[in-house]
Amino acid sequence: MNDFKNIKSLTLDELKTWLKSVGEKPFRAEQVQNWLFCNQVQSVEEMVNISPSLQAKLSEAFQIHSFKEISRDESVDGTIKWLFQTHDNHYIETVMIPKSKRFSVCVSTQIGCAMKCTFCRTAKMGFIRNLEAGEILEEIIRVNWYLKEAKILNNEGNQAEVTNIIFMGMGEPLNNLENVHRTCCTLHNQKLFNMGRKRMTISTSGIVPKIKELVDRNTPCCLAVSLNSTSNEQRSAVMPVNRIWPIEALLEATDEYTRRTDNHVTFEFVLIKGLTCTKEAAKELIRICAPRRCKVNAIALNDGDDPNLQAPSAEEIDRFLEIVRAADVQITMRNPRGRDILAACGQLAYKQGTVESC
Ligand code: SAH
Repeated sequence: MNDFKNIKSLTLDELKTWLKSVGEKPFRAEQVQNWLFCNQVQSVEEMVNISPSLQAKLSEAFQIHSFKEISRDESVDGTIKWLFQTHDNHYIETVMIPKSKRFSVCVSTQIGCAMKCTFCRTAKMGFIRNLEAGEILEEIIRVNWYLKEAKILNNEGNQAEVTNIIFMGMGEPLNNLENVHRTCCTLHNQKLFNMGRKRMTISTSGIVPKIKELVDRNTPCCLAVSLNSTSNEQRSAVMPVNRIWPIEALLEATDEYTRRTDNHVTFEFVLIKGLTCTKEAAKELIRICAPRRCKVNAIALNDGDDPNLQAPSAEEIDRFLEIVRAADVQITMRNPRGRDILAACGQLAYKQGTVESC
């Protein structure tokens, strides 16, 4: 289906232009977007203040929703993972992580990934294509549908809905910046999702020029960077992106981000036994973080396919955290969520030919 058009990918102006081209009044664009993003309707027929003739034109030109839900798995910790089939028969995963008041959704931004990080399962899929803004938004809308259907309440007893978005699923968001930017703008728009900047976090493996572009575009989001290692030699071995933009270049970009946005950067740090979870690495991490306005999110390695990369023991992790905390660097240990359903960081992958996650 090469002529497939996702209506949710269009900006308000683009939708107005289309409406004019089919002889309709441009103000209908606001109404249509309201149905799509506020009411999150499942079909065009539900847009009751839109004339049947415009409904027909919309149905002919666009598909309102494009994913087919293939499976939905729930973890013992409440995390839920969806496997969606795209209109062109590819597969992506979306994860919802409930935590008292918060319902965070970890969205995929690409089908597969080109970054080749050795510890990450998505890398094994290779890169297939970018997701459109409408598709990324659909991941969030589908989670909202589920929360409503399952009558899930937040801890205040109200109908739960998605509160936070983390761009940490499959793919490298900054390699799909145009669509990710559009997504963030729609989410941030007060008339649409009305999500504050602080509720959206883009995580990157470290595409330096794109970090600068993110600042130039003033994309409404926070920035997380997968630092994962403190030495160039080690980082290049596990994250090939480091061979192009080494740690110094990355830090220059994150410093510029902090300076220009007045917002801190979160460094993500995967703890790998004997590699990144050592006394030396802790000291290096202090050298990098102590002089900067930043936070560190540490996470123990989740099982991958590489037998050389192991998770550290609880004692090794404690020792690491103790050293870093003693230097007043703000470090939080992230609890792995959804490991039992392969929904944790670095575990999202889909093997062509099966309808199961690998
Ligand atoms: N490409 C982006 C977003 C996807 S990865 C990025 O690199 O940031 C999201 C996070 O999961 C990254 O911080 C990454 O370092 C982490 N991650 C990947 N594989 C992991 C694994 N096996 N165990 C723990 N964290 C992992």
